[in-house]
Amino acid sequence: MARPTSATIHTDALRHNLGQIRLRAPDSRVMAVVKADGYGHGLERVARALGGADAFGVASLSDAERLRAAGISQPILLLSGFDEPADIERLRQLHVDTAVHHETQVQMLEQAADGEPVRCWLKVDSGMHRLGFAPEVVRDMHARLAALHGVVGEIVLMNHFASSDEFDGPQTREQMRVFSDATSGLPGQRSLANSAAVLGWPTAHADWVRPGGAMYGMSVVAGTSGADFDLRPAMTLATRLIAVNTLHRGDCVGYAGTWSCPEDMRVGVAAIGYGDGYPRAAPAGTPVLVDGRAAQVIGRISMDLMTIDLRGHDEARVGSPVILWGPELPVERIADVAGTISYELTCSITRRVRFVEA
Ligand SMILES: *Cc1c(COP(=O)(O)O)cnc(C)c1O
Repeated sequence: MARPTSATIHTDALRHNLGQIRLRAPDSRVMAVVKADGYGHGLERVARALGGADAFGVASLSDAERLRAAGISQPILLLSGFDEPADIERLRQLHVDTAVHHETQVQMLEQAADGEPVRCWLKVDSGMHRLGFAPEVVRDMHARLAALHGVVGEIVLMNHFASSDEFDGPQTREQMRVFSDATSGLPGQRSLANSAAVLGWPTAHADWVRPGGAMYGMSVVAGTSGADFDLRPAMTLATRLIAVNTLHRGDCVGYAGTWSCPEDMRVGVAAIGYGDGYPRAAPAGTPVLVDGRAAQVIGRISMDLMTIDLRGHDEARVGSPVILWGPELPVERIADVAGTISYELTCSITRRVRFVEA
């Protein structure tokens, strides 16, 4: 029998979320960010479902290649830019835009052979201090790019926010000021906003928004889930019970016996573990749904299995459906108790999980 573990991708939710993003940013174009295999939802599947997006953002040229092979014709932006001279030819062949965040990239473009011009998104480091040009060199880099025949005349200006999930926090306000000063008077479209800025910083929407998580129905705003912003989760992770055992008071469950039964009780064993991408860090008490009703993880998560407290679940049987996250159980809640963010959980689903489209 095949493992009963599946990730169902709700393509209608993806479309709904794109619609919600458009409602919130009505004057902006939407670049759907699909890096990391569409945040674990499946690159081609997501891109097809989001056929209405104005562009796609990827982290690697091979992902851009996959999108073109799948017939995606919208603009694609290589978010972290290219790495070596040979990449420039691939960008041209694939008609893929590139971020330019470092002087070595400007030099490679200056030394590139003539060819079809590449569209560049000049990335300003407005304060995250990861990728981007320092504000004081932005004008110089812009001028060098604008002078090149191999670069499309209009250069897009972008930045990235470090803490836009803190609505009304000082860092985002400061990043907007730094970006605006560094780019004032320069021609071209602007792009600042990731998901949290789409949701909480309307003054940062500009010409292009670049939502990732929100498109998949996830929120990184502390204490919230996507539903709080009228977004719908795009993934349900589910499996089944493959054993139901009656244990005695004092019996220890799982590796290292970290959990012992406080009374005689039934314990369910579900066919999912960290080998499927479920977080091993999820502690006893982490919520799951058995037959659609709330239950709790007990003991350690192992590679292939987890154990579940079935007290109050007298109807549970071998074969009972178990939901790990989905519309009825926000992935944000699981991330919270496992000490991570929802994005990491959906990105971590492994290849042995069966993906289903709904
Ligand atoms: C990942 C990424 C995004 C999307 O971020 P979300 O928080 O998922 O919306 C936007 N812009 C850049 C440059 C990124 O790397």
